[in-house]
Amino acid sequence: MNTVTRPRILVVGAGFAGVECVRRLERKLSPDEADVTLVTPFAYQLYLPLLPQVASGVLTPQSIAVSLRRSKKYRTRIIPGGAIGVDLKSKVCVIRTITDQIVNEPYDYIVLAPGSITRTFDIPGLTDHAFGMKTLAEAAYIRDHVISQLDLADASQDPVERASRLQFVVVGGGYAGTETAACLQRLTHAAVKRYPRLDPGLIKWHLIDIAPKLMPELGEKLGSSAQEILRRRGIEISLGVSIAKAGPEEVTFTDGRVIPTRTLIWTAGVVASPLIATLGAETVKGRLAVAPEMNLPGNDGVFALGDSAAVPDLAKGDDSAMCPPTAQHALRQGRHVADNVIASLRGGPMRPYVHKDLGLVVDLGGTDAVSKPLGIELRGLPAQAVARGYHWSALRTNVAKTRVMTNWLLNAVAGDDFVRTGFQARKAARLKDFEYTDAYLTPEQVRAHVEGTARQE
Ligand SMILES: Cc1cc2nc3c(=O)[nH]c(=O)nc-3n(C[C@H](O)[C@H](O)[C@H](O)COP(=O)(O)OP(=O)(O)OC[C@H]3O[C@@H](n4cnc5c(N)ncnc54)[C@H](O)[C@@H]3O)c2cc1C
Repeated sequence: MNTVTRPRILVVGAGFAGVECVRRLERKLSPDEADVTLVTPFAYQLYLPLLPQVASGVLTPQSIAVSLRRSKKYRTRIIPGGAIGVDLKSKVCVIRTITDQIVNEPYDYIVLAPGSITRTFDIPGLTDHAFGMKTLAEAAYIRDHVISQLDLADASQDPVERASRLQFVVVGGGYAGTETAACLQRLTHAAVKRYPRLDPGLIKWHLIDIAPKLMPELGEKLGSSAQEILRRRGIEISLGVSIAKAGPEEVTFTDGRVIPTRTLIWTAGVVASPLIATLGAETVKGRLAVAPEMNLPGNDGVFALGDSAAVPDLAKGDDSAMCPPTAQHALRQGRHVADNVIASLRGGPMRPYVHKDLGLVVDLGGTDAVSKPLGIELRGLPAQAVARGYHWSALRTNVAKTRVMTNWLLNAVAGDDFVRTGFQARKAARLKDFEYTDAYLTPEQVRAHVEGTARQE
């Protein structure tokens, strides 16, 4: 029996932040320095920025699901499940495994990287009737749903039904919503040629946002270019507008318009994973308030990063600024937090996280794109080359890079066959069904659970 007890490092979440952290810990720590464990519901790291391309069929789902078990060098123990609570006092993480068993995982160091969930508001019907764009299942589901609308409209003799199946609404003018609307519009625009009975003029995409501008981080000129491209392609953009209520066959905008539609895609921002609230610690807009070193002051061995943490943005030189929820920050924070965990394990000094934003790339499908790398404004093909080059190089494994490149080439040469796989169940699955937001415990339930299991032992 092994009686040597090594420090236990528990990483929660296998996204940009969590996987970068784990890989760095594996590289820099010798196996007898610490045990590393990763909790994740899925066996892959999802490359979220390319999700709209999965929804539109440019990429297959597998190409952006990067395996966590690609190499024999990966020695981390993986627990398939989700953390549903953390008890900071007794240093225990409560996990619901994928077979619904509840297990307690003690730790010496915990790195919280569970990312974010779709931010919703108290709008009647929203969670029952909207789709999100945060998970691989949602992207694959939306693709099937959109193609099925064309199939059903084609088969229908009822002009009212046809009209409602051929209108689509995307809420959220950030990069996620804009890319989603742009990529899916290209899908329907190309697919309708295979439906000679359908009038292409009936297909209408709406992109709406309560803000006065799309993607304000692009700046005035580039933002207007993006709008111009979308408008030219027939996407109706409404700014200063949101949803007043959502139903199964129509949505009502806050400006009073009622749009007959069966497709409402909601991408109006994100909030930190509900796991953060189970800690009962201080938060900033729902994200865990951490120090610039990404540790939780007053709680030894607790770190948080990525979308779930409010990491001060020291590069901005403004005390109240926090890093935006982007992959660009999350993966760099992942490497940095690993160094700080190692430093604290070895008794060395931790370093604050500083990263100056490299800019933004927005892929609008085909040769349409706008990008702002290092402040340089690009449009069209050069912007597209930068956008794809950036994402391609950020994919973690060579096999993922090859899959993505092959898919891009295949799609450029052979196009899409618009096959509806039929994976979608007869019962419609919407926002509330994909993100498992009701799985979490309250801080009191976490405490009671941990104390209860300790008494039984
Ligand atoms: C459509 C879309 C497009 C985007 N485009 C860009 C872009 O172009 N550029 C950019 O920089 N950013 C982009 N982003 C944002 C970027 O993807 C996120 O900021 C980034 O993924 C955050 O990294 P993370 O590691 O914090 O979270 P994630 O990458 O979301 O990873 C969190 C992980 O934790 C897991 N998890 C969740 N809850 C639990 C739990 N309770 N227990 C265990 N595991 C859990 C999840 O399954 C996931 O694997 C985009 C996001 C979306 C949705």
